[in-house]
Amino acid sequence: MQNCVQSTENAGTAGAPSAALTGETRKGRPFEPKTEAGENMKKELLKQYAQLVAGVGINVQKGQTVVVRCPVDCADFGRALCAACFELGAKDVVMEWRDDVCSREHWLHADDSVFDAMYPWDIEKNVQLGREGAGFISVSASDPENLRGVSTDRLRRWEAATGRDQKEFHRTMMANGFPWCVVSVPVLNWAKKVFPNDADDAAMEKLWEAIFSAIRVTEGGDAVEAWHAHCAYLEEMAGRLNALQLKQVRYKNALGTDVVVGLPDEHVWMAGADTAKSGVRFVANMPTEEIFSAPKRDAVDGVLAASKPLALNGNVIEGIRLTLEHGRIVGIHADTNEEVLRQAIETDEGAHYLGEIALVPVDSPIAQSGLLFYNTLFDENAACHFAFGRAYPACVPGGDDLPEEELVRRGINVVSTMHVDFMVGTEDLSIIGTTKDGREVTVFENGRFAL
Ligand code: ZN
Ligand code: ZN
Repeated sequence: MQNCVQSTENAGTAGAPSAALTGETRKGRPFEPKTEAGENMKKELLKQYAQLVAGVGINVQKGQTVVVRCPVDCADFGRALCAACFELGAKDVVMEWRDDVCSREHWLHADDSVFDAMYPWDIEKNVQLGREGAGFISVSASDPENLRGVSTDRLRRWEAATGRDQKEFHRTMMANGFPWCVVSVPVLNWAKKVFPNDADDAAMEKLWEAIFSAIRVTEGGDAVEAWHAHCAYLEEMAGRLNALQLKQVRYKNALGTDVVVGLPDEHVWMAGADTAKSGVRFVANMPTEEIFSAPKRDAVDGVLAASKPLALNGNVIEGIRLTLEHGRIVGIHADTNEEVLRQAIETDEGAHYLGEIALVPVDSPIAQSGLLFYNTLFDENAACHFAFGRAYPACVPGGDDLPEEELVRRGINVVSTMHVDFMVGTEDLSIIGTTKDGREVTVFENGRFAL
């Protein structure tokens, strides 16, 4: 699961000038349909999408404040989100505009001192809004290679700084202290990375289609209804796994993944919607196809070979191979940008341990599209994956209300400021579970659920 804390792609661009919205943006302009009918259809889908995010993603309540973080290149969508939140009775909608171009300028040219700490007012604002139960919508859309060539020392320091400065916000978010939702819409440089052989407009159109399909928004359809049915299905599958309370699972495929992952004595597989502290149901990632839990911190042994590239901190990391002993990552390899991966894992001790185990069959709709999105929100929902770094507390019963020491005692990895998902699922992946009384259960066969 993707979280909504401020990441490098957005660093330093909070409050980007609204003047950028008044004219045609430099690049990444929204797809412009050629016909009036096409335009109306597009507007209708965009509106339906925004209403889905406000109504089901955040489930905006009357009198609630909502923060919308959105790239300037997706201004149409940001505006639709703003309107949809107000329609549901939001007290206020706080817009935070982002921009890849300014972000890259910032990373290349800002004074070296700014990468060691967040601005105090920025930290305080998030904490305050989180405390009052504001909803956070994060539109994850950027050039996957926007920070190519940026100093890895700056990346490392900023990672450490945001980890430290956003600790409370991050913790509250991961314990569902407030509703949050990560969604996505196309921007040009991203669309061109996914569809390199297409002209600009065609690439944008194809990415729009792929996203609408992934989030179940269709012309004349009822996306809200489709989502309730989808969440019910995922929750039913999670229930089957919860009933088993497996001791461990063993992953194997031809790519080189061969690992035994222990599970906490008492664990919870989660899927679909979450419940915020206020009792309101929300969906943290749209799309979501995963059923996830947390590994037992010190009980993972073997090799994990990534099956898809990982877009991390504006760089694409390919050919990841991690070796784990007693839960700790002791071997780090990547064919490209190994340094970016190494720095992420070395951010703190907890980032050396896994914090998420997630099941996604290869016959899930996003996997079936056959696309490589270079955006974890989509790629993690097309393949079984793990995350290194902090676990979601609710992966143990009642975890959202337990103190950190107790969560550690229950065996999950919650002492880290990181959470990075990476994909391992393949067509030939098998997952064999072992129950506490030693019985073997086939969980996955040929990349698909066998339960
Ligand atoms: Zn996940
Ligand atoms: Zn995750």
